[in-house]
Amino acid sequence: MSHTRRDFIRYVVAGSIASGCPIDQALLAEPGSAAAGPLVEGEHFNVCHQVRDGHSFPKPEATKKADVIIVGGGVAGLSAAYFLKGKDWLLLEKEDHFGGNAYQEEYEGHIFGTGSAYGYRGDHGDMLAKEIGLNLPLINMPDPIIDNGKYAPDIWRTGINDLPYSKNVIASFKKYRDNIMKIDVQKNAAQLDSEPFTKYLAGYAPEITKLWDAYGPSNWGAFSEDTSALIGITDSQNLIQGQDDQRVILPGGLGCITQKLVEVLKPRHGERMLRDATVVAVVPDKDEVRVTYVQGEKITTVAAKVVLMCTAKYITARLVAGLPNEQKQAMRRMRYTPYPMVNIIFDKPIYRKGYDNWCPGKTFTDFIVADWTIRNNPGYKPKYNILTFYTPLRETERAILLNEEDCKTLAAKVLKDFQGLMPEFNVDPVEVRLYRRGHPMFMAVPEQFTKNRMIASQPMERVFFGNSDSGGPESLTSEAVRISHAGVEWANLVLAGKPGAAELAHKALTEALL
Ligand SMILES: Cc1cc2nc3c(=O)[nH]c(=O)nc-3n(C[C@H](O)[C@H](O)[C@H](O)COP(=O)(O)OP(=O)(O)OC[C@H]3O[C@@H](n4cnc5c(N)ncnc54)[C@H](O)[C@@H]3O)c2cc1C
Repeated sequence: MSHTRRDFIRYVVAGSIASGCPIDQALLAEPGSAAAGPLVEGEHFNVCHQVRDGHSFPKPEATKKADVIIVGGGVAGLSAAYFLKGKDWLLLEKEDHFGGNAYQEEYEGHIFGTGSAYGYRGDHGDMLAKEIGLNLPLINMPDPIIDNGKYAPDIWRTGINDLPYSKNVIASFKKYRDNIMKIDVQKNAAQLDSEPFTKYLAGYAPEITKLWDAYGPSNWGAFSEDTSALIGITDSQNLIQGQDDQRVILPGGLGCITQKLVEVLKPRHGERMLRDATVVAVVPDKDEVRVTYVQGEKITTVAAKVVLMCTAKYITARLVAGLPNEQKQAMRRMRYTPYPMVNIIFDKPIYRKGYDNWCPGKTFTDFIVADWTIRNNPGYKPKYNILTFYTPLRETERAILLNEEDCKTLAAKVLKDFQGLMPEFNVDPVEVRLYRRGHPMFMAVPEQFTKNRMIASQPMERVFFGNSDSGGPESLTSEAVRISHAGVEWANLVLAGKPGAAELAHKALTEALL
């Protein structure tokens, strides 16, 4: 029996969804809620309910103290640690690495992203990157589309006449473009945020909805029918006006910022940065907050003057005791998309024609070229061509991530779909990697931005609620950084016993980008 090279492609499944952490194993939504996926294993819910009810783990007396405890070492937690400068802080991260959803990996020295892709020149992430010594180059290319076996270099501007569709469909794209630009989003924000995006897609060619059903899940975790019209229309206008010209990144996506933050923080503060430390309870009192975490076999409680919660709200709601009921409900109402990422590694040049390439109707929504912004650097001679595939799932498909074989099948479908896009793509890679994440991106559903977020993210007296899901209107690394900056200012006021902390936090929430 002869073996083709195809038989030997290595499939690697990574990511923590099924490993080690009691919180992670409880990743499914509350049973019975709108967002609940299928019941996978009852055991997982048992652990989940114990954590949620706050009595599954013993809470020993506090044996350590810190002025500020940061829960979660994604970009929000790491940037909070950075902004705290010389303060007495302790950062607790459940994974064996920092970075959360902005995390880079490498293959034989070639760096690629496993989540967050790019930022914008001058946004809060870019400013922080600059401050810590990272210069993020411009992407300098609009997004191509590949559909019906054809490539078109730009969707909304110069390339609109070359879209791989019929004349009538192209005319419909133009009509959509003209009509959507007439909507005043600032003036009508509240109303638009209460409506589904599909209302504004009705009457146009179905190819337009098909495109947003790729763009939406990839960027804000929701298909058109679940998307707030405010977000869909704002992003449409931004693309049509060419805001994407300001996009910046390095290989590794925004994982390059978390990687650099760790490099900057570790030499001086390494002992304050605990990995494999899963927080299981955060109990605020009048004068302190007791934070209990599990590290290996050991359970420890630390007493803090203030706590910055940099975990997503579906976790936060289960950890923090004494939340007002309305706030807890608002946190639980938030919906998160299951979102694996697939990296396909070729040992020959396959594709370097565009940075972020949209492929409506496929297993993946888009793929990016990992080394795009450094490809023309003098002396750069890559051995591998690494393509990163964005593969958001529907909430009902979350269980795929709990089974390694199902993950490999999904990764194989991504490869097959890519190989079928254009004849020249039908090449076998050396490796296919899938990074699974159960709830990494909050969904920009109606009323999340203008209403639910505002209730979910109100600070308590000694607990601040950070994470990018306190910002918006979609899940953005720059928002995680901005909110953390505010969280640190808030902490400084509370620590100094000065007034104005609540007002400062409120201002930070209302200043979220549109
Ligand atoms: C596929 C994908 C693509 C994206 N693309 C972009 C993009 O192009 N541009 C952009 O700006 N944004 C993008 N985003 C969004 C961006 O990645 C996130 O908004 C950002 O990384 C969130 O950072 P965070 O620190 O707020 O939260 P997280 O990254 O969720 O960090 C939270 C941390 O808390 C830890 N944690 C959880 N529970 C506990 C516990 N009990 N105890 C201790 N630690 C705990 C987690 O392990 C994690 O490290 C993308 C997201 C995804 C998933």
